[in-house]
Amino acid sequence: MSARVLVVDDILPNVKLLEAKLSSEYYDVLTATSGEEALIKAAEDSPDIILLDVMMPGMDGFEVCRRIKDNPLLSHIPVVMVTALTENEDRVRGLEAGADDFLSKPVNDIALMARVRSLVRLKMTVDEWRARETTATQLGVADAEANVMNEPVEHARVLIVEDQNFEADKIVETLQVDNDILIPVDSGMKAMELASQHDFDLLIVSLNLKKEDGLRLCSHLRSNERTRSVPILMVATEEDMERVAHGLEIGAHDYIIRPADRNELLARVRTQIRRKRFQERLRANYEVSLSMALTDSLTGLYNRRYLEVHLQKLLEKNQDTKKNLCVLMLDIDHFKTVNDTHGHGVGDEILKTFSRRLMDNLRSFDLVARMGGEEFVAIMPDTAKDIALIIAERLRRSIAEHPFKCSASDGELTVTTSIGGILVQHGEHTVQEVLNRADKALYEAKNGGRDCTVFENIGKLDPEQYKQEPRALIE
Ligand code: GH3
Ligand code: MG
Ligand code: MG
Repeated sequence: MSARVLVVDDILPNVKLLEAKLSSEYYDVLTATSGEEALIKAAEDSPDIILLDVMMPGMDGFEVCRRIKDNPLLSHIPVVMVTALTENEDRVRGLEAGADDFLSKPVNDIALMARVRSLVRLKMTVDEWRARETTATQLGVADAEANVMNEPVEHARVLIVEDQNFEADKIVETLQVDNDILIPVDSGMKAMELASQHDFDLLIVSLNLKKEDGLRLCSHLRSNERTRSVPILMVATEEDMERVAHGLEIGAHDYIIRPADRNELLARVRTQIRRKRFQERLRANYEVSLSMALTDSLTGLYNRRYLEVHLQKLLEKNQDTKKNLCVLMLDIDHFKTVNDTHGHGVGDEILKTFSRRLMDNLRSFDLVARMGGEEFVAIMPDTAKDIALIIAERLRRSIAEHPFKCSASDGELTVTTSIGGILVQHGEHTVQEVLNRADKALYEAKNGGRDCTVFENIGKLDPEQYKQEPRALIE
């Protein structure tokens, strides 16, 4: 899929020129000739990047950029301001409005294409996280208002690779206003060493190091596990444009030309910090929501949804081995009475302790899930019949033989559980069949007096026969 570029300029020949350049690089080009039209197209056609003219009658480029960056639905779209304005003040004003870059007309083709390519690539990554986060939002756990412009810019950890002292000092002085933690080093070796030991929010790399190639360092930083996704800001001279383009190509995020204007430097650094933090937020939200979608919040055990998917996989794997898969279904006895007598809060405490005990009495590769209410399922792969019976009985005893500490009036309660077990041998089985069979065995255990274990085709287990401590057998 080719990336879509929205070109905005009130002067038609300018639009046509950019359109021609971009089309020849196989971009999909959309155009707008006013700020208002740009906002509409940005919302309707979801471009991957916007090239925005500054001077336009009516709504100017600064305002368009600000509106895009204020809108949580659009703020992740990179904006490059393209302008005849050459004053540093204008450049900084654009960056402060949230623009990702500010290029001067006539546009240097190498710079433009490198920029477009690298920003599009960056956006694709963010899009991926946004898509996942949308799923999370539908599950009701993500932060729907997340907006890159709301991310804090202070207290970032910045590694500065620069061997000219006065240049390094200038960067440090400039970034101090944001209370950043600034660590200057004068060689790539030291940079790699520090970067592989600590987490940084931004790496500033000089492309004019005397003893080594800054570009090569950028490439090392890109391939290192720990620094792979940390943004890189290159510092270069006007003559370095081709190397800068190459740097963007291999994954550096931005650059600044010497002598670096302090405000511009600050604005560019802030943009990178915000973007990084925004991406981290999306990822963290996603991870939290994923765990919430698959686990039960009261007990921390996996939920039914997870168990069913997991069991399906195990059944497929089990199809042509000679090993047994043991499935136990457990249901607390007379749990309704616990709630009715001691209250729902005590009931919840019992459920938590019950879950803990199941976990403690199973192996790390066994799986326990809360299927709902006071019903649980344990799955034990590769388990021989004799061992399965011993473990089931051990689970039952671990519940019945030790009263549960809780906030009931006596400080503890005796709880028992009924267990239904089955052994699944190779062959084709559906998840539902397997669970139904275990449920049937559980039903027999309930009818057989509760606080007991019934296995399919074996019947009720005699507690006396399975008393030995099976640790040695199963661990
Ligand atoms: P049996 O021995 O036949 O299993 O009887 P029981 O009372 O355990 O079974 P029943 O299915 O009649 O009642 C289950 C109770 O579990 C009813 C319900 O209020 C309670 N329950 C379900 N989920 C929760 C929960 O999350 N917390 C608490 N405290 N109680 C729950
Ligand atoms: Mg019950
Ligand atoms: Mg029940």
